Amino acid sequence: LLTIEGVWKDFGDHSVLRGIDLEVRPHEVVSLIGASGSGKSTLLRCVNLLETVDDGAIHLDGQEITDPRVNVDGVRKRLGMVFQAFNLFPHMSVLDNITLAPRQVHKVARERAEEHAMELLGRFGLADKARAYPDQLSGGQQQRVAIIRALATGPRLMLLDEVTSALDPELVTEVIALIKELKESGMTMIVTTHEMSICRDISDTVCFLDDGVLLEKGPPEQIFTEPEHDRTRSFLRSVL
Ligand code: ATP
Ligand code: MG
Repeated sequence: LLTIEGVWKDFGDHSVLRGIDLEVRPHEVVSLIGASGSGKSTLLRCVNLLETVDDGAIHLDGQEITDPRVNVDGVRKRLGMVFQAFNLFPHMSVLDNITLAPRQVHKVARERAEEHAMELLGRFGLADKARAYPDQLSGGQQQRVAIIRALATGPRLMLLDEVTSALDPELVTEVIALIKELKESGMTMIVTTHEMSICRDISDTVCFLDDGVLLEKGPPEQIFTEPEHDRTRSFLRSVL
């Protein structure tokens, strides 16, 4: 579904991504782990075309999205990205937050967009919050709404960057439950997290980034119990 080949990204004279190769299959949940500054967010931002790559290529459903002639909005329509900070529009109700992109970008009629939004809110236990404003919701509810908003446009791939990091521990569970349900429903996702328990819980494949290099990848059982590289082992020792 997504192929990342030889991706390099420099900021000034600092190479933040140094030849990343990664293949994401349909329905796969891939997580990126690694120290702060190792390049996890930058890699997601390259996929979402928030950053341009300096070398290499990224293909989404066979289309080279890193081609400079690509229609960026057309690519972003097929991706759902959610960040650590919730980024909901504070002056809009939950329902308006969720229906904004379907209506404005995808030209879905209001009635149909609201129907779909209500379906999603119902599915994730938030139907009673449709008319609420973001500041009337808990952090966990806000983050779930942010994920639902990204889902509302029917993305091929979801990119989740530290979506539980800003939450109190007791609110993390409800967001993880939503991510797991998405996984069950077959959504393809790339997720970054500092929480190894979450990573273990939701990932099909774990990728360890070390200073811009994808040093090691494999199923969680392998990465967490018998990593190949010393650097992976010492990273895991420092966070587990
Ligand atoms: P964290 O775990 O803290 O979120 P990360 O693995 O997501 O870290 P990135 O945010 O991808 O790391 O950053 C990788 C490196 O790139 C860091 O050294 C960061 O300072 C640098 N960097 C990121 N964005 C920019 C930018 N716009 N300009 C300059 N340097 C940047
Ligand atoms: Mg980051």
